[in-house]
Amino acid sequence: MAWDFETDPQFQEKLDWVQRFVDEEVAPVDRVVEHAWDVTDPTRNKLIRPLQDVVRGQGLWACHLGPKLGGPGYGQVKLALLNEILGATHSGPVVFGCQAPDSGNAEILAHYGTPELKERYLRPLIDGDIMSCYSMTEPQGGSDPTSFVTRAVRDGDHYVINGEKWFSSHARFSSFLIVMAVTDPAAPRTKRASMFVVPMDTPGIEIIRNVGVWGHNEAEGTHAYIRYTDVRVPADHLLGEEGEGFAVAQTRLGGGRIHHAMRTVGLVRASLDMMLERAVSRETRGRSLADMQLVQDMIAESWAELEQFRLLVLRTAWKIDELDDYKKVIADISAVKMVMPKVLNNVVSRAIQLHGSLGISKEMPFGKWLLESYHMGLADGATELHKQQIAKQLLKNATPVSGLFPTTHLPALDAAAELKYGLPAIGAQ
Ligand SMILES: Cc1cc2nc3c(=O)[nH]c(=O)nc-3n(C[C@H](O)[C@H](O)[C@H](O)COP(=O)(O)OP(=O)(O)OC[C@H]3O[C@@H](n4cnc5c(N)ncnc54)[C@H](O)[C@@H]3O)c2cc1C
Repeated sequence: MAWDFETDPQFQEKLDWVQRFVDEEVAPVDRVVEHAWDVTDPTRNKLIRPLQDVVRGQGLWACHLGPKLGGPGYGQVKLALLNEILGATHSGPVVFGCQAPDSGNAEILAHYGTPELKERYLRPLIDGDIMSCYSMTEPQGGSDPTSFVTRAVRDGDHYVINGEKWFSSHARFSSFLIVMAVTDPAAPRTKRASMFVVPMDTPGIEIIRNVGVWGHNEAEGTHAYIRYTDVRVPADHLLGEEGEGFAVAQTRLGGGRIHHAMRTVGLVRASLDMMLERAVSRETRGRSLADMQLVQDMIAESWAELEQFRLLVLRTAWKIDELDDYKKVIADISAVKMVMPKVLNNVVSRAIQLHGSLGISKEMPFGKWLLESYHMGLADGATELHKQQIAKQLLKNATPVSGLFPTTHLPALDAAAELKYGLPAIGAQ
């Protein structure tokens, strides 16, 4: 029997260290560094680089990677437990070298990059020296990648890319972009596109504007609207085979989605912890908020939602470790992705309510976290598509009945039982 909900004591010691380190050294950085991804910011480098060295010293750097790529190869369950702690901070994932979108982009490069590309981009990416961008969504709509029109045309030993991409996060911090472009418009829909590494300094790349989102107060947005005009990349910057763009995308999206969910567990837990502290700290009409049954209802609902979500995340992480194939956990990952925005939205909304006017004020982080829940319902695929995916996977294994009535039709079960036992059915419902 192998059901087990315990963390092994050795790893728990590491997690305890991480919690202390994050509370004492990482969370304060969030108060003074605008964007932990901005490797051009000297203040960020002065504060974050020494912390990254401490993490390396603890053997906790880039935990999403196996030993071949310089990570400890802890697997997804341990990564989940770590990410829960990091997720309550902005800088945490960068300090530990497991931030999005770079973790997913590193996976793609590791799988499909030539040795030269790995040396030039994967190594410094893993070392935390450079950042990267995933440039797939187009302005006319991201939910249907088969409708993308950005083109890559072979020209001798180069490809020439033309088109526009939307919400290419962190492009302005990046040394390279991973770009999806159509190489064969006549091919079947899922074989039309290919994936390319595009160095950021290639002529023809124009950031039309950096789009900002509600909930983030940085002076300039981080989601680039990009135009590619006659952007020439060497043919060996193609990742995988021509036409394999969708397969390559799956390499990163599965991991990216579950890693977001792991971090979201941390945000939900932080919201609940703040609710608990408030409930026992605030008095009204001579009684503690904690004594009010409707407040208790909010706390109980929030805890139960958090625990359900967390168990789903951890079980999915465990399945990824066991099965080593994202295709076999498509429904699980989509379920995690579907639940994530709802749980965060519900719990943060209650935390706002419980904190009253303070909760809605800019003196607490809840407004940002609430908006984060809407980001999560869109980034890496809209919730609606994930619901469809779950249903599609489940329906694959459903068998239609041959007759008019379901196999569990009670009269049929009665008849079968009467035949089996020679006894009259009692008409149970
Ligand atoms: C914070 C954030 C970061 C992002 N980062 C990146 C990035 O780094 N790189 C990148 O390439 N993209 C990125 N994206 C883009 C993201 O992938 C898209 O937002 C997403 O795929 C949805 O595409 P869209 O925004 O064009 O919405 P649309 O495709 O226009 O969809 C809008 C809405 O229409 C409905 N809808 C659409 N299709 C269906 C359907 N089949 N069934 C039912 N309803 C449907 C849904 O309600 C959906 O939310 C990011 C998005 C966000 C919010």
